[in-house]
Amino acid sequence: MTINTQEIIALEKQYLLQTYKRPDLVLERGEGSWLYDAQGRQYLDAGAGIAVTALGHHHEAVIEAIRQGAEGLIHSSNLYHTAPQALLARDLCESSFADRVFFCNSGTEANEGALKFARKYARATSRPDKTGIVAFSGSFHGRTMGALAVTATVKYRAPFEPLIGGVTFAEFNNLDSARQVITEQIGAVIVEPVQGEGGVTPAEPEFLTGLRALCDERGALLIFDEIQCGLGRTGKLWAYENYGVTPDLMTLAKPLAGGLPIGAVLLTQAVAETLEVGDHGSTFAAGPLVCSVARVVFNQINQPHFLAEVKAKGDYLGEKLATVVAQSPLLAGRRGRGLMWGLLSEIPAAEIVAEARNHGLIILVAGERVVRLLPPLTITRAELDMLIERLSKTVTAVG
Ligand SMILES: *Cc1c(COP(=O)(O)O)cnc(C)c1O
Repeated sequence: MTINTQEIIALEKQYLLQTYKRPDLVLERGEGSWLYDAQGRQYLDAGAGIAVTALGHHHEAVIEAIRQGAEGLIHSSNLYHTAPQALLARDLCESSFADRVFFCNSGTEANEGALKFARKYARATSRPDKTGIVAFSGSFHGRTMGALAVTATVKYRAPFEPLIGGVTFAEFNNLDSARQVITEQIGAVIVEPVQGEGGVTPAEPEFLTGLRALCDERGALLIFDEIQCGLGRTGKLWAYENYGVTPDLMTLAKPLAGGLPIGAVLLTQAVAETLEVGDHGSTFAAGPLVCSVARVVFNQINQPHFLAEVKAKGDYLGEKLATVVAQSPLLAGRRGRGLMWGLLSEIPAAEIVAEARNHGLIILVAGERVVRLLPPLTITRAELDMLIERLSKTVTAVG
């Protein structure tokens, strides 16, 4: 089968539901931090999908786990035990605040699960009135009805209302605003320790500490959405470790299985105890192949020297980005931590992202005015220098 770039794009225009605005770029293969299009052009990948391919592309250990997993059982359902799932659950619990894990297939599903578990916890602890949920401005938690209801972006919400009720938004990083809405009727507070999609905004330490205290005081469960900022992205295994605050539930997805679909809800024993057989489930979730791959990814990331390198490379990138910002009138600042950075743009961020492709650089937007960088955690310093050089050329060209 030979099909060229124009034919592929024509098929997508004719047959795919038009929910994505794609550039005329057909990707064909990847190697480490690099992507190649169908015409053989090379791009430095500073998006990693969207924080998914944390170990880069074509990673030997990932490929081997897929190969071996395919030789064994690809799928088993959740009606039976399998070793990879049990081992992955242990790895996640032993490395985190959590005592138990529920597996699913994506980020939005993980948040959907967390919201359901909070409802069940309220009922089981004789507080069925605690159905309210507090979320924050700038949040992104997913696209299904429950997760969308706690996502702030009006453009994503408006066409699908009514969403689930009982959700109140407070201002991110404003504890007073949170204090006003976390009432006795609130069962759960959901927050990203570092907001991703909403503009790459780290929570202030006092904000997360304050939320923990408010939740304890008012009897609400605290849910951390670490789907984007977790699993090494900030230079710690879990983003919450930067804050010294632990949640009652935490959701994971994006990088966990190196590009294969998986999601997870991590829970304390106190919450887990209120869930019973039949309360929630999934047909596909966490089959043996996917879990074997996730274990490989997890065990690579969960190494002190790997995480220290992410932190050091992240600090280096942050310094270099400050220089780019200082030199460009288009950029007003930068924020982030680890290998998760946002550049505040004076023009639509999409214009910078589009120009970057002409300089062999793949980057992302985070909202209208933020350019987002999420390189693979395995990116080298030499590649970071190339990233900076290409980014400088990009902003000069746009300017
Ligand atoms: C991407 C993302 C989600 C949704 O994940 P999907 O796998 O796309 O459903 C939820 N929360 C955060 C913080 C995310 O970045």
